[in-house]
Amino acid sequence: MSRKFRPATQLVRGGLSRSHHGETAEALFLTSGFVYDDAEQAEATFKNEVQHYQYSRFGNPTVAMLEERLALLEGAEACKATATGMAAVHAALLSHLKAGDRLVASRALFGSCHWIVSTLLPRYGIESVFVDGADLEQWKGALSQPTAMVLLESPSNPMLEMVDIAAVAKLAHAAGALVVVDNVFATPLLQRPLELGADVVVYSCTKHMDGQGRVLGGAVLGRAQWVNEVLLPFIRNTGPSLSPFNAWVVLKGLETLKLRVDQMCRNAAAVADFLAEREEVSRVLYPFRPDHPQQKLAMAQMSAGGTLVTFDIRGGKDACFRFMNALELVDVSNNLGDSKSLATHPATTTHMRVGAEERARLGIGEGTVRLSVGLEDVADLIEDLAIALDAAAVAQPRAAE
Ligand SMILES: *Cc1c(COP(=O)(O)O)cnc(C)c1O
Repeated sequence: MSRKFRPATQLVRGGLSRSHHGETAEALFLTSGFVYDDAEQAEATFKNEVQHYQYSRFGNPTVAMLEERLALLEGAEACKATATGMAAVHAALLSHLKAGDRLVASRALFGSCHWIVSTLLPRYGIESVFVDGADLEQWKGALSQPTAMVLLESPSNPMLEMVDIAAVAKLAHAAGALVVVDNVFATPLLQRPLELGADVVVYSCTKHMDGQGRVLGGAVLGRAQWVNEVLLPFIRNTGPSLSPFNAWVVLKGLETLKLRVDQMCRNAAAVADFLAEREEVSRVLYPFRPDHPQQKLAMAQMSAGGTLVTFDIRGGKDACFRFMNALELVDVSNNLGDSKSLATHPATTTHMRVGAEERARLGIGEGTVRLSVGLEDVADLIEDLAIALDAAAVAQPRAAE
């Protein structure tokens, strides 16, 4: 189609490729392979003389609809879907980097991204350097020498720290680096990294895109030349391909992404304001609140504050666990972006493995809770949180041994 549609339209219509049956919904091509009319067509396909699906590790019509929809939504030239968000991050990094290269990353990364940068890359002779993502001086220092890649997450997990994407992209490009942004927390609706100067955007489709807790998925988006020449051979030959079934679930999830994310943002903002008024809470982090240390930057590069709220409960781990265990509506779960509200204690779950020293550097305390705000009635959520905060404040007598 020649007309340029807005995101809400792309989410419903983008990439739709109907079969000769004229089905309304996106068709699910749950097939591993494809057949040819004859041996000549097979030969021509493998010679790239004709366009024909070969094998679902390389490409699949349902997965292709998802890739096209995500590319249109992001304003990217090309997209490759992957089995998980981590497969997307891993493929984006490992397809591009080689021994002797250097990568600079913001320290506040999703746990497994942190592991890839700190532990996996050095094994292959790739130097990795962490900086505090909010500190432009540290980026300047780290990018004062030739660098192959920059990886950043904004807002970050779990402390919702912002990186100035446009400023870092400028420094990174001067150092020769490709800039990869993990945009999971913002979603393609709230933040547009490519327009801010990033080269590659990665997603976990598991989070808001499915958004209903069903499937894992991931995506890498960027320029056509990089995707086709660098990323695609890596994915075709190493095989982190997305199941057509999961692609189909995510396609249907995308149709309601804007409705869900808009409402979840409204709920999250209200929950953050409620928490900030409570005595049991010593600190609330929500990007659009005036007490967020980077509110100005958040408002400049995002269109809403997001669906996550992070806060500290007074009284450390004990009080925090009393709070979490007293939640009736909100579930204790390390997932996020779901229509169900989910709370996690990063110090003992998602960020247990980074170690106490790194947690302290990231600002993750024993009383820190990350709350992924869902689609329940916000009054019910606030009631649930209020009851649980009351429970946190009351020290429970120790059960007799
Ligand atoms: C969940 C997540 C990932 C990894 O995605 P999976 O689908 O779980 O593999 C990467 N980055 C961020 C910010 C995430 O929230």
